Order: sequence, then structure tokens, then C-alpha cells
Amino acid sequence: MSENILEEIFIKRSQQKKKTSPLNYKERWFVLTQEKIAYYDFDPDKKKRKGLRGSVDLEKIKCVETVQPEPNTPRERMYAFQIIYDEGPLYIFAKNEDVRAQWIKKLKEVSFNKDLMQKYHPCFWADGLWLCCQQEVKQAMGCKVLDGKNEKTIWPLPPQPPESSGPSVGMAVIAEYNYKPMTAQDLELIKDEQYTILEMSDTNWWRARDKYKEGYIPSNYVVAAESELERFWYSKNTNRSQAEKLLRTENKDGGFLVRDSSKAGKYTVSLFSKGGESGGSCRHYNICTTAQGQFYLAEKHPFTTIPELINYHQHNAAMVSRLKYIVSNRARPPSTAGLGYVWEIDPRDLTFIKELGTGQFGVVKYGKWQGQHDVAIKMIREGSMSEDDFIEEAKIMKLRHENLVQLYGVCTKTRPIYIVTEFLSNGCLLTYLREGLKQHPTTVQLLEMCKDVSEGMTYLESKQFIHRDLAARNCLVDGNGTVKVTDFGLSYVLDDEYTSSAGSKFPVRWSPPEVLLYCKFSSKSDIWAYVLMWEVYSLGRLPYERLNNTEIVEQVSRGLRLYRPQLANEKVYSIMTSCWLE
Ligand code: ADP
Ligand code: MG
Repeated sequence: MSENILEEIFIKRSQQKKKTSPLNYKERWFVLTQEKIAYYDFDPDKKKRKGLRGSVDLEKIKCVETVQPEPNTPRERMYAFQIIYDEGPLYIFAKNEDVRAQWIKKLKEVSFNKDLMQKYHPCFWADGLWLCCQQEVKQAMGCKVLDGKNEKTIWPLPPQPPESSGPSVGMAVIAEYNYKPMTAQDLELIKDEQYTILEMSDTNWWRARDKYKEGYIPSNYVVAAESELERFWYSKNTNRSQAEKLLRTENKDGGFLVRDSSKAGKYTVSLFSKGGESGGSCRHYNICTTAQGQFYLAEKHPFTTIPELINYHQHNAAMVSRLKYIVSNRARPPSTAGLGYVWEIDPRDLTFIKELGTGQFGVVKYGKWQGQHDVAIKMIREGSMSEDDFIEEAKIMKLRHENLVQLYGVCTKTRPIYIVTEFLSNGCLLTYLREGLKQHPTTVQLLEMCKDVSEGMTYLESKQFIHRDLAARNCLVDGNGTVKVTDFGLSYVLDDEYTSSAGSKFPVRWSPPEVLLYCKFSSKSDIWAYVLMWEVYSLGRLPYERLNNTEIVEQVSRGLRLYRPQLANEKVYSIMTSCWLE
């Protein structure tokens, strides 16, 4: 008889091999050997193993992974894992994360099926449905790619090299923002406190632990604890003009931040001092290094680390003023990918406050989720969208970027379905350009808007996602003037007038010749849609104003391009025209 590798009492979910067999959860005594994983009845009082109830041969196992808990899961069933073999999934619940991780690791080591799966279902099969992708066939192919699927090797997988900078499982992270749990599965984050990462299978929601509890946290709210510069005063990815914008908005004497210098590997302190004609000025000081590798702003005061240097100058002036007041690009927490770790939103949690407008799919309203979080709610008119495709794709895509309007979740259990997204208080970019700007915009402001859009679009391209309908009307502006792209998915629209290039609603003015002539969409056709940049610099004029759609198709194919708007200088205009090369 082979030796027992692991033994443990777990809760096991009934496998419901027949449609009529009941769903139940029973405690079983699990034993892992070199050949199989077997489970037994047991006598709880005498702590004795009894009759064998079932087993799975290790060579039949195709996949062992965690399973995400369902909403409102009782505590004892939070740590689920699945063993997939030819008879379907076997669901087992461990009492804590450590035990679960230990079993998964061991099982992966000892299983040796050559026919491993590429994809799996991260959620349960329940009531005739995969909860992750809503597919209704139990044998349906998984919807999530297994980590490490690109490696040719079979288990045991080689340990993944830790990503150069990002956190990894087991690592300590620091919260950059407070996070109030939105669902029972979430863990509260308190700014500057430390947490340990337990699981990262979902890129947006990591499982983490504080001193007392475990739960899901938004991954974009934390940074690796060990990275030296991730302090509140350090504004990552901030250039000179963005730093000035932040400092001026804050408008505090002695306001400062530290950012990457335009010279690679160097840092710059940007400092604002009040007074003067223009109401204040920004100065930028490079942090210098001595021959011994120490850092200084004033040569007489070198320090081994930048935090020490900043700390010193928070108390001692060496420049126009002391570093009095931290200005952070992280003052406002970013959007989370969803309202907590659930995707399906309960419509009873939504309050409707006012109507924002009507779009392609119906009415859009501003409202609150659970009485406190601002949201925009799209009520999808029946028949206007291929709903299943949308839901399916949105769930897998899980897009999250500062310049994309964040999708929070959906209400699909009632009709019409709702799509719930982040709310942007300055509304549609086109209207904002035409009438929303309070004073005449500076060209820097206009360029920032274009940059916002291009960063959102770069991210979409990196995810192999084609927008197909980029235009100022499909961008929104938040309370700070940041522009975000929305409505990525002409693909779900069911109205032919909109999707067919000959249709009356087709975005002809934003389309390149190859789309107009051959319907050839690509990330390149998205670039052509930087007609948007022309819209921005002309403050919301209609492109090719005097031409109708037929004339545009004809003339653009023959080489006609938009003229240079007054606010755009030659350099800016050359960027636009470079997007309209054939
Ligand atoms: P669709 O793309 O379905 O045609 P839109 O997204 O254009 O509909 O929505 C219609 C209008 O509602 C927009 O022009 C905008 O003013 C408003 N709106 C839509 N989404 C939001 C949001 N997330 N925040 C603020 N306003 C919004
Ligand atoms: Mg729209």
C-alpha cells in the first residue's frame, strides 16, 4: 500500500452526476497517496476513518485550481478548490488558505496526466450553469486561461520568476488608499497599512490578509511594500506639465511632489510657491547623486536614501521654500474593477437620481450604488444589444485603465438588463468641448485631453481590443477634466444603420478608407479615429462639416484630409495627419 502524502478533513460538495441528485455538502476524510485522492466517511467522535466513499486516480486529473466563492458564501466554504477529471469537477472546501494552497501544490506535483487543460472555470458549476461564463453545458470549455499555459512543460510547473517590480503571492504590500469593503468577500484597506497577498488569480481582485482577516482587495490600491520610492509624495508616471497641473490645482504654498525626471533613472522634486503675478510658480529641482551614490538637493546635505532626503527638506529649506505640503496624484483613489468582488449587481442596491441622456441602447441614468457610490446606469432597451455576447466578453476582458470608463458590473437577472459603470460628472467630451469649458482652454489642456485618450487606446490595443467607434461623443470627462474612453464595442450593437458602413448612423467621418471600402477594422482603423484630436482642437466641430456621408467616402478615398484647426500648431497638426496616412 502506498504511503499517505496528505490527510485532511474537508467539506466536499456532492457531484450531482445525475441531474436529479441533490446538492449537498458533507465532511469527508481526504487522503492523498501517490496513486489517488480518496475520501472516506468518518466517525467524528472517535476521530476514526470509516468506509471509502470515492476516489480519483491522479493520472486522470486534468486540472487543480482554486474556485472563487459565490456571493454570501458561509465562512466554512470560502476556500474552495476544484479537481477536474473526466467525470467533471470535484469541489472541495478547505478550512483556510494555507491548507488549500498546500493541497493544490501537492496535487499539482503528483498528478501526471499528459492531457492537461488550457482553460478552466474559475467559478462553480451550479444549477445547470457555469457561474463565471454563464455557459449551460457542464463540459463547456473553460473561460479562463490557466496560468503558465504558454509553457510547454507539464506539472510541476517551474516556479515563475517574480515580476520585476510588481507584488507576488506571499509578498507584503502597502495600501495606497483606503478601501471600504463593498461585499462580504472584500477586505477593508487602510492607507499605509501592510497586507499579505494570498492569491492573484484574478488580476483585478487579489486575495489578501491583514492581521485578523482575509478577503479580496482591489489590486490597484496597493503597492509592493519593499519598493523604496512608493511613498505618498512620489507621483509615478507624472511628467513636468502634469506635475505643474497638480501643484496649481492644489494651490498651496510649499506644495511638492517627487517624480521621475526626464532623464532615465533620475528623480525631480517639483515645488510650488505662492505669490507673484501669475498667482504662483512651479520650480523643478533634480535630485543629484554624489560620487559615493548619496542623494542631495543641497550639496552640503547628502543622504543615503531619497525618503531621508525628503524628510530632511520637509523640515529645512534649501530651495524657495521648505517642502511643506505633499501633493499627490494619488489623492483620489482610482476606480475599482467592479463594486467589490462580485460582478452581478443586485438592482435593489441601485437608486436612480437623474437622467443623463439617451444613447444607442436606451436611457442612461445617474444614481447611487448602496446609497453612497456614484454610478451611471445604462438601461439596455430590449433588442438593441446582443446581451449575451456583451456579458460574456466583458466578464473575460476585465479591462481596467485610468483612461477607460470603468465597467462595474451588470444586472442580468431582470429585464431590461442594466450596465453599471463609473460616473463622470463632466459628461460627454463633445458637449464639454462645445459648451462645458469654463474659460478658453490652453493648448496644454487640449493636448492633455488627447494624451488621455491615446493612453486609454494604447491599453485597449495591448489587450487586442478594437474600439471601432472612437470619437469625442464616446469619451467622457470626469470632475478633474480627465478624459476617459467609453462605449468600446460597436460589436454588440444590433442596429444595422449603425454597424453597416452604408448605414445612416455609421461613423463615416471617423473611418479610414479601408473601413469605408472593405469594412476592415483593426487597431489601425482606431488610430485613424484620431479625427477625435481634430475635434478636440476645433472645440467640437463636426469633421468635414460641409460634406455628406457619400461625399466623404468618395473624397477621403481620393485623399481629402481635414484642415488644420486654428488652435493646433504645425507640430500638433502633423501628429493628426500622421494618423490619416493610408
Ligand atoms: P450610448 O453609447 O449607449 O449611445 P451614451 O454612452 O452616449 O449612450 O450615453 C448617453 C449620454 O449619457 C452621454 O452623452 C452622456 O452625456 C451620458 N452618460 C453616459 N454615460 C455616462 C457616465 N458614465 N457618466 C456621466 N454621463 C454619462
Ligand atoms: Mg455613446
